[in-house]
Amino acid sequence: MSGSVAIIGLGPGDPRLLTGAAQAALDAAEDLIGYIPYVARVPERAGLRRHASDNRVEVDRARHALELAASGRRVAVVSGGDPGVFAMAAAVFEAVEAGDPAWRHLPITVEPGITAMLAAAARLGAPLGGDFCALSLSDNLKPWDVITARLDAVLRADLVVALYNPISSARPWQLGAALSLAAGIRAPETPVMLARAVSRPDENIRVLTLAQAREAPADMATLVIIGASATRLIQRGPELRPYVYTPRSVPEAEPA
Ligand code: SAH
Repeated sequence: MSGSVAIIGLGPGDPRLLTGAAQAALDAAEDLIGYIPYVARVPERAGLRRHASDNRVEVDRARHALELAASGRRVAVVSGGDPGVFAMAAAVFEAVEAGDPAWRHLPITVEPGITAMLAAAARLGAPLGGDFCALSLSDNLKPWDVITARLDAVLRADLVVALYNPISSARPWQLGAALSLAAGIRAPETPVMLARAVSRPDENIRVLTLAQAREAPADMATLVIIGASATRLIQRGPELRPYVYTPRSVPEAEPA
């Protein structure tokens, strides 16, 4: 078997944010597999067969990649951002575990990418400077009860929370429900950042309060960051977006 699978992170959008290693893995590929908008980000070239799918079942796409690799092809599977963050890498390994034992002998490599959370944080300042966590609000693959239980726990733990997949046409109410839950735990003036299409031409970044964010529109290209109690804004005047940061130091709790 001479085939292989490279699972490649394309970064948040701007080609300059694609790593050199990811570019080299794309250049070596014979077959390109992924969700349509991600495949579209890779320029066409001779010798590269493109298999863009609108199939939302990631494991089917992963199996297709493994079958092609088992037949001897050098396959690239692409995801936006990082392929290990709510994306194709886990689907490929799930397919390997459940699939043809011969697939375990295929060379499978993962090329990291800049995930949306880090690209958004870099635009804002340093909101992830202290402890933080990332959650996907999509209930396509897990029950909504699990999502709210986890969100409740991390909000109470005073972590900065990055929310991926906040909303879509099929899931219109989840972000509102998550922000209502946050409003019951965190102060109304808590900073909430809505970072849309970071590093793409239609980028839009808003720094709001939790109270304002509950009324603000977001879409599936938006990454939401909910600040912790220590997250601070540095105001820069009416024309400029404030810097947002979370200090690394946490003061000792006052003795009771
Ligand atoms: N693997 C991707 C995440 C896939 S989940 C990554 O590491 O970034 C898809 C979600 O990621 C979107 O709903 C949105 O919340 C977020 N996202 C992806 N690209 C983004 C970008 N350029 N700007 C803001 N959010 C983005």
